[in-house]
Amino acid sequence: MLMYSEARAKELSHHLQEVQAQIAVASQDLSAVRARTSALPELTVVTKFFPAEDVAALYDMGVRSVGENRDQEAGGKATQLSLHAHSDDPLRWSFIGQLQTNKAKSVVKYAHEVQSVDRLSLAESLSKAYLNQLKRYEAGEGPAPASLANGGLKCLIQVGLNPQAPSTAGQASLGARGGASPEDTLELAHQISRLPGLVLGGVMAVPPLDQSADVAFERLYKTAEKLWGDFPEARTISAGMSSDLEAAIRWGSTNVRVGSHIMGKRPML
Ligand SMILES: *Cc1c(COP(=O)(O)O)cnc(C)c1O
Repeated sequence: MLMYSEARAKELSHHLQEVQAQIAVASQDLSAVRARTSALPELTVVTKFFPAEDVAALYDMGVRSVGENRDQEAGGKATQLSLHAHSDDPLRWSFIGQLQTNKAKSVVKYAHEVQSVDRLSLAESLSKAYLNQLKRYEAGEGPAPASLANGGLKCLIQVGLNPQAPSTAGQASLGARGGASPEDTLELAHQISRLPGLVLGGVMAVPPLDQSADVAFERLYKTAEKLWGDFPEARTISAGMSSDLEAAIRWGSTNVRVGSHIMGKRPML
């Protein structure tokens, strides 16, 4: 049983409402690519470094999408939450951090989505792990992959937006600010679309620190537009964190990932 204090729940609820209001206000800005008819971006609450009890409090106030960036931590919390959440109204876990191929096996068990696919070798590992988990499930030897009900593991291509140094594949983390280059994104999309068990969902990015967020998010939008030429269903643009929500939403974000403004300050690594 996951227990949390009323004081902590109140604090989280207050921050959540503030961020939801901030998203609604930002969504009225039609100066870039948003239209009056654009849907409100979805909110994924980034719960990394915070305990499962906090995630339970968020679930109880209606949050159904959380993001994590470390496999061990995420897997443990997902197991705890699976007992807390209602099976017919599950919590969705997005993996948003740098991922080594040997963790794919673990990630497909609990993740509904991986937002940080930045290279073919990772996509191949996720596909293989998904199919293995499915086979074990069908043989009655283990649980289904978390994303089975959605028809496969949703994958977003993490796009590196640093114009100076082309990012190195495999360096996709908040620290390294990596990702596939915008030029490589379409080819990687075609590769992902051919892998069984994976569903190409769109793109994700963390803007470089030394660049204006508007410039970075505009580049991400243009990359997504190119993708839509061949994959019109891959509509997700995951962009915007606590400090750059407004710019991301202006440039067509469909999914913002907010951590510290809701959860509080993370402990330093
Ligand atoms: C931690 C993290 C976030 C949340 O960042 P905040 O600044 O705390 O809102 C969003 N996206 C990624 C990829 C992250 O690693």
